[in-house]
Amino acid sequence: MSILDQFCPKCGKTTDNEGLCSECQVKSTKWFSCDKRAQSTHCPSCDAIKIGNTWTDSLKERSDLAPDLARSAVHLHPDVKKAVIDVTVVDMTVNRSRAYLVIRGQLYNKPVEEKCTVELVWHKEQCDRCNRISGSYYEGVVQVRADGRIPSKYEIQQASLIAQQVEDNLQAGGERLSFINDMNEIHDGLDIIIGSQHIGTLICKAIIAQLGGRYTTHPKLVGEKSGRQLFRITYALRIPRFQKQDVILSRGRYAEVDRVESNHIRVMDLADGSFRAVKDVDVERIIGNARNAIPAQVVFSDKDIIGILDPDTGHTIEFKKFAWMCARPGVHLNILRDGEQIVVVR
Ligand SMILES: [Zn+2]
Ligand SMILES: [Zn+2]
Repeated sequence: MSILDQFCPKCGKTTDNEGLCSECQVKSTKWFSCDKRAQSTHCPSCDAIKIGNTWTDSLKERSDLAPDLARSAVHLHPDVKKAVIDVTVVDMTVNRSRAYLVIRGQLYNKPVEEKCTVELVWHKEQCDRCNRISGSYYEGVVQVRADGRIPSKYEIQQASLIAQQVEDNLQAGGERLSFINDMNEIHDGLDIIIGSQHIGTLICKAIIAQLGGRYTTHPKLVGEKSGRQLFRITYALRIPRFQKQDVILSRGRYAEVDRVESNHIRVMDLADGSFRAVKDVDVERIIGNARNAIPAQVVFSDKDIIGILDPDTGHTIEFKKFAWMCARPGVHLNILRDGEQIVVVR
């Protein structure tokens, strides 16, 4: 024993500490506490989880959530180091589980271990999004229409697919209220009912990027909530009169639309295979779209003439052969009908 030895004022043992020895320090420290219950709130319709006041989408099952929920009930003294909490969960009923916890750590260089039990409460509550959807809440409508015609099946299908992709991206990015409430195909197009204005703008831009066209917005005041004016916006989207692969008649010649620009179209002439621009006003009519063409077999081909078997009548029809046509006997060419006339398309 030297003059430098220090004594614990509580138990009298020698110690390197100033004041209490480590053992007495551990004994006099309430190093952990454990709440009796921990509650998790989730939406029964979509499984979103509420943390604080914020809903988040989650793919986790109750069995994945339970250990962390149980651990959230434990509060450790800041001096506890290397804490490890082992959790065993027993499900009691649909909305109750019991978690048995073993808490281990180091406190003032002494190992410590305690046990506690936490009741896990599985609370169900409709989330903000499901609440809005079930209450038919919406902030706008994207009206997909076509200029001077009815959108094709293909365009309607594409538009709805694009809208769903936009929704998926926003939802994955955590924009929970940017949802599609409903989608209705009506006689002259598609109505997409949307939960936020942001998704409306993005849907319009994405559809236009793929199908062309333009959109205008028309807000309408629908009421007031906590001093804020509430608007519903109609996004009037017009896809162009022409679509890619439309076959048109212009100045007596058939041509297939290659690209749609704002006031003209670029076409491939179906007689000589050349490309040119045609103004909208110079289009006599649309005879169909090459996507809907039917195959017809080439039965013979010589220098200038090819013969095609009309699939409807079984008769052979002769055509002038053009350089762009692949016209070996046996191959199929795609044809459209314009009244009596058969038009070979690309
Ligand atoms: Zn002591
Ligand atoms: Zn929900």
